[in-house]
Amino acid sequence: MDINERSLELGSKRSVIRELFEYGKKRKAEIGADKVYDFSLGNPSVKPPKMVEETLKSLLLSVDPSALHGYTSAQGDLATRTAVANTLNKLCDFEISPDFIYMTCGAAASLTVSLKAVLNRGDECIVFAPFFTEYRVFIENADGKVVISTPDESNFQIDFADLSAKITVKTKAVIINSPNNPSGVVYTYDTIKKLSDILRKKSDEIGHTIFLISDEPYRELVYNGQKIPFIMNYYDNSLVCYSYSKSLSLPGERIGYIAVSPRCADAEKVYNAVCGAGRSLGFVCAPSLFQKLIAECADLTVDISAYKENREILYENLKSMGYKCVKPDGAFYLLVGCFGLEASEFSEKAKKHELLVVPCDDFGIKGYVRIAYCVSKETIVNSLPAFKALSKEFL
Ligand code: PLP
Repeated sequence: MDINERSLELGSKRSVIRELFEYGKKRKAEIGADKVYDFSLGNPSVKPPKMVEETLKSLLLSVDPSALHGYTSAQGDLATRTAVANTLNKLCDFEISPDFIYMTCGAAASLTVSLKAVLNRGDECIVFAPFFTEYRVFIENADGKVVISTPDESNFQIDFADLSAKITVKTKAVIINSPNNPSGVVYTYDTIKKLSDILRKKSDEIGHTIFLISDEPYRELVYNGQKIPFIMNYYDNSLVCYSYSKSLSLPGERIGYIAVSPRCADAEKVYNAVCGAGRSLGFVCAPSLFQKLIAECADLTVDISAYKENREILYENLKSMGYKCVKPDGAFYLLVGCFGLEASEFSEKAKKHELLVVPCDDFGIKGYVRIAYCVSKETIVNSLPAFKALSKEFL
């Protein structure tokens, strides 16, 4: 049958994460949910803030259904975009108007739309390993080419020598993700400043703009008191891709936004390209009910203390058992070394102990697995003997 080959390929094979998640469901049915330690998915385990629930109820009871469930402006309701702009203006050194905000169905849509807005066929987009696996799909969907920059493995910040070497005349965009999935690493001010300096210098050298796309679904999930440097304060040609999936624990509701920096060269044009990309991809009128919710709840964040506690128990215990762990300062992931094994082989061995951990090869890094610790504390604590038994196979 003559259908799109790439789409067929993408739809026919599951991601490693989904594969493991499906295995976990089957295994739980066989031996009981409490016997399987499933760290496969980044699905928030913490409840949305109480005010989210209350606002939803009040919207359902008080707003005229045709307004509540009807189409909004393609780029989103003005009231919602104003609330988002007000939130961002607390982080930003200058004013962002609602006219530079585009509401989306989560960070996945924010990224797909932003990439489609800035990339032309054959343009290169640099991603920093380890990176969210779907970046490849989104970049290639925008006819771009993925270029991977390898990290400084001593701290998983950017390796600037490697980045500089990877920038060519075809480089059009760079994606950063801090706090990071899958490492949990948070980029320091120094990293962001150096990155911005290099991109400015290289843009001048190659004679065109390099866009910096900052993927920030974990912006508020930081555990060491560190403030995330707001990218627009450092680099003008930037777009922020955000979602409320993790900050409000609403991943299934598909709500987020793109913010185009008003300091971008030709900022109105970039914003119009975002609107056009949203239109061509069918990502217009983000879910109306949840836009109205965000208009009331844009400043809220879930209580992250449970994630913080899980992180401490897991990190300290695994380290003392001899695992090589990357210290996670944010998000809810822990990157763990595989004692010199291929990550897929290690993940298979872990399964024998009922531990479901994701091999990170598809995240662009070899020899590591990802543990998503957005699970109950009980699961973390009960899994420790299994991690101990697994480590004993290697030590
Ligand atoms: N970017 C990163 C780094 C993620 O981890 C995720 C989801 O886990 C996304 C984007 C997609 O987020 P959303 O579910 O809001 O589309």
